[in-house]
Amino acid sequence: MLDYDLIVCGAGPAGAIAAMVAAQAGLTVALLEKQILPRHKTCGGGTPTVMQTLLHDLVPESFVESTVLSMRHTWNFGDPYLSPINAPDADRPLSIWMMQRSVFDNALAQRAVQAGAELRDGLAVRTVTIEADRVRVSAQAIKANGGLNKGDAFVATARTVIGADGANSITAKAANLRQKPSIAIGMEIELPHAWGTGHPDLRPDVAHLEYGAIKRGYAWVFPKADHLNIGAGVFRPRRQDARNEHQVRTEMQQAIAHYLEALQLSPDLSQVRFHAHPLPIWGGKERLHTQDGRILLAGDAAGLINPFFGDGILHAVKSGTIAAECVIENAVAQYSNRIHAEFAANFDAALSLARFFYQYPGVCYKYGVKNPKSSRLATELISGELSFPSILGRAIGRIQRAMLGDRHGTSALSEG
Ligand SMILES: Cc1cc2nc3c(=O)[nH]c(=O)nc-3n(C[C@H](O)[C@H](O)[C@H](O)COP(=O)(O)OP(=O)(O)OC[C@H]3O[C@@H](n4cnc5c(N)ncnc54)[C@H](O)[C@@H]3O)c2cc1C
Repeated sequence: MLDYDLIVCGAGPAGAIAAMVAAQAGLTVALLEKQILPRHKTCGGGTPTVMQTLLHDLVPESFVESTVLSMRHTWNFGDPYLSPINAPDADRPLSIWMMQRSVFDNALAQRAVQAGAELRDGLAVRTVTIEADRVRVSAQAIKANGGLNKGDAFVATARTVIGADGANSITAKAANLRQKPSIAIGMEIELPHAWGTGHPDLRPDVAHLEYGAIKRGYAWVFPKADHLNIGAGVFRPRRQDARNEHQVRTEMQQAIAHYLEALQLSPDLSQVRFHAHPLPIWGGKERLHTQDGRILLAGDAAGLINPFFGDGILHAVKSGTIAAECVIENAVAQYSNRIHAEFAANFDAALSLARFFYQYPGVCYKYGVKNPKSSRLATELISGELSFPSILGRAIGRIQRAMLGDRHGTSALSEG
């Protein structure tokens, strides 16, 4: 039977970077991925440029399709507010990269292979079992690939397993971790686009964000090289698991359709594929490795999505890196603490801000988003240049004071 130092389940950003870092350190690593790479991943594909510091030798030219320098905010597709991320005299210019996840994830996985990891795609992990001093992973080929026929079994053991298998993580279930996850939901379409057509504010350097069209979330239009990624997400669902709110999918689909109309785009929707996917958002500190240190969870499998913005790529890469470092350093018992040290304070405050923002989106739009500095502030928060705890009290206090000073403000308190 095949035996490795480390088996990584899932070759998204969390798994691919974990496999790369561990292989670079000389560990024998298998990277198991259910889909054949490159594969579509339901995602907006926006990430702050600070990501570059974590990617080792993977250069941005190999995956960045456009660079966002302004955000156009709207409320119910009206009251537009276009603001740049950088003031003309900004000493630290910031921006957001837009990429296609199929390209980015595949590039990271190939980097892991170059570092010495064994990538086995088209293999769906079915069971993960802790044995005396190893973990046994059984997988099944979903297609003929890499010497296996469809349906063939693949069994291997390892000293440690990193579960980076995303929102519906088999590894988390097998390890009895993450038993009550908070699940938000998002949906997107990818629409071929010729720049210069549609609304004049459709530009390759502008991200569009709409706050009134969908309750307890927002909708977006992200520019890519030759298409637009148009989506909507419910980031503060009424239930613990947004997948149990049946009307949510229809609402997201309607928000996307209205966005198309507002931006003067009229594709044949019957030809467009709507992709929906759960977002496991941060719900507070919890254990992310088994007591014996044999299984660690990273990225979405660990619930590391920011509950305010709903972004997770940067956190997947950070947590995958931390997981690999803990394995390399024989420090797996410290894994959950290291993750909490990196994310907990920031995500706890992001959750508090999300509770307020998504309850009173109208007043938050009027007094918070429509502010010359809001695009800059959002980018600093996404980049980790600014922490949520440092702005939480000020941001909520400022909006509450503005609400009290506005004679319409009290009625706005019943929003949400
Ligand atoms: C609509 C939407 C829009 C989003 N937009 C953004 C955005 O703009 N910016 C941002 O930062 N984040 C965004 N996110 C969140 C982001 O997509 C995730 O946080 C990110 O993909 C997490 O990376 P990961 O590696 O943990 O998991 P994933 O990227 O989900 O990778 C998990 C991998 O595991 C594989 N896998 C699953 N099960 C098995 C199995 N049994 N065996 C083997 N392999 C398996 C999957 O095929 C997948 O390749 C968005 C999410 C959604 C749903």
